[in-house]
Amino acid sequence: MNTNLIDTFKHKGLRKKLVTTVKSKGIRDERVLTAIESVPRHYFFDSGFLEYAYEDKAFPIGEGQTISQPYTVAFQTELLDLRKGDKILEVGTGSGYQAAILFNMGGKVYSIERQRPLYVKAKEMLPKIGCIVKVHFGDGYNGLQAFAPFDRILVTAGAPLIPQPLIDQLKPGGKMVIPLNENDYQVMTLIVKNEDGSTNITQHGIFKFVPLLGDKSR
Ligand code: SAM
Repeated sequence: MNTNLIDTFKHKGLRKKLVTTVKSKGIRDERVLTAIESVPRHYFFDSGFLEYAYEDKAFPIGEGQTISQPYTVAFQTELLDLRKGDKILEVGTGSGYQAAILFNMGGKVYSIERQRPLYVKAKEMLPKIGCIVKVHFGDGYNGLQAFAPFDRILVTAGAPLIPQPLIDQLKPGGKMVIPLNENDYQVMTLIVKNEDGSTNITQHGIFKFVPLLGDKSR
């Protein structure tokens, strides 16, 4: 039995504190706060590191990647403004935590990851905790054409540019949240696709992400 997958009163208490923390940093959407309180973040940590699960910090998950800081997860999710039943593509599955948050909020979630060990781990783990997420292995620059169009697209790695396939795979009226810039920091960017296919782009502050990489040779 995986002892990580036990949610104690202590864990629940730590999540309540985490909610207070992200609230104090400006997160207001009750649906997001409820999801942060509901999803056990320690399930996504190796057993030796459980004590770090409820700090408001990013943490290494192997392959040089990180589980995003809870505040960043909450910020991106709030900006994404998803509605129950929305079809969502997440680019950068990582640990699977963000996908679990989106599922918890009623999304039909597709997620794509380019690091095979992370893909395998998340694909095995998410169903064990009751999260129905379609996890795919591949290059998120290309999106998931076979399952498009999407109501929402969330990119969880820093991209040097807006991948055109992702714009193409967004429904008219759909929204995409993507951290943009290939330097040390990224600008959180919201893209709203209009009915005529044009886009409105707005910027929402500075964050720090691992890079969105292309094929394995890049
Ligand atoms: N959402 C994740 C979570 O909840 O744990 C955190 C994501 S981590 C900050 C960024 C992830 O994007 C990494 O797992 C990385 O391997 C992945 N990634 C980077 N470039 C990618 C690409 N082109 N396609 C798919 N995934 C990519």
